[in-house]
Formats: sequence, structure tokens, C-alpha cells
Amino acid sequence: MSGCGCIVCVRSNNIRRIVCSTVDHWYHAMGQTRSRLTPEEISELRSTTYFSERELQQWYKGFVRDCPSGNLSQKEFRNIYQQFFPSGDASKFADLVFNEFDSNKDGAIEFKEFIAALSVISRGSLEEKLTWSFRLYDLDKDGKITRQELLSIMEAIYTMVGHAVRLPYDEKTPEQRVDQIFYMMDKNHDDLLTLEEFKDGSKQDPSVVQALSLYDGLM
Ligand code: CA
Ligand code: CA
Repeated sequence: MSGCGCIVCVRSNNIRRIVCSTVDHWYHAMGQTRSRLTPEEISELRSTTYFSERELQQWYKGFVRDCPSGNLSQKEFRNIYQQFFPSGDASKFADLVFNEFDSNKDGAIEFKEFIAALSVISRGSLEEKLTWSFRLYDLDKDGKITRQELLSIMEAIYTMVGHAVRLPYDEKTPEQRVDQIFYMMDKNHDDLLTLEEFKDGSKQDPSVVQALSLYDGLM
């Protein structure tokens, strides 16, 4: 078992197991990817993540086993989410999360990117998690979340969940959810959420970030 054993890590581990289930394993057969991180890589990842050397090596081993090419593609990432929400369409939400993981924007998630995101999601402080979510929601990355951006996210989540999974807000529409969140968080009523407003609102009323909880649960 990799990770600390909490529900987030356990689920991460399960996801990792099914990651790249559709990848051709000829890469593996040809031994193109190393099975261990180098001391230099370990040293770098230890300074940028919350994982120990042993954990990093375990995650790496699992990653290259499941992703023999060394990269997780957007299509594979969608497939992972789709398996959790068979009755909905997870592609839009998966793409949004994929873009957050893919920090160098080259269209693939390499191990370094995977472990960096996982570190924040599973071990980060509440502040770090909220900042990560804020970036996910801030689609054009201008430092503010508009109603339209939040609506896009909510629509993606509702589409993904479909009708099969019962959520606390399952009777509300994405529009109602956006109104609710802005009413709660947009303190200066300018129809924009800053990182500070987002953090303050989320801490005051955790129910406002149910989407984040949903995301936590997935990873
Ligand atoms: Ca990348
Ligand atoms: Ca924005």
C-alpha cells in the first residue's frame, strides 16, 4: 500500500492501479522506462512534495508499471474518471483536472506532475488544497473566478455525476449552485471571487466546497 493509508491515499492507489489500463504494454516489454528514481530525482521530489523517499519510489514503481510509456495521456485520464461515473459523462471535468495536473502544458502527465498534484491533494494543508481548487476553477488563470467559470465547472460536475450518484446537492441545478456560492463568498459583490474570498468562504461553510470534496473523494 502506497500513501499514508487514509481514504484519499487508498483511493489514489486504486486509481493508480487502473491508470493506463488501456495502454499498450510493449513499452514495458522493451524496458524503456526505468523502474527506480535516481538520487537526483529523489532529492528534487523530496523538496517539492510531502512524500518520503520510500513513498516516492513506491509511487514511481506503480506509475511506470501502470503507465509504461512514462506519461499519462488525456484520454487515459478521462477513462479513469469515467470508470467512477459510468452513468455520466466525465470527459469535461476530467479534462479540467488534467490541465491542472499537466503543469508544463505539454498534453501529458509525467510522474513529476502526477506526484506534485497528489502531494497537495492528499497531504497538503487546507490552504494548499483550497489554492489548488481555486486554480482549477479559475479557468483563464487571471486570479479571479467569474460566474461563468464556476458555472462551467458545475456543469462539468453535474454532467459527470449524471443521475446515478446521490449527492447532497443533487436536487439543485448548476445555476442555483453558482448563485449559492457567490452569495456566500462574494463579499464585495463584484461578481468575481478572489483567492481570499474563496478561501474565507470555504472555511466558513465547508458545504460550499462540496465540489472540492467530490474531487478529493475521486483522488
Ligand atoms: Ca506535462
Ligand atoms: Ca478567471
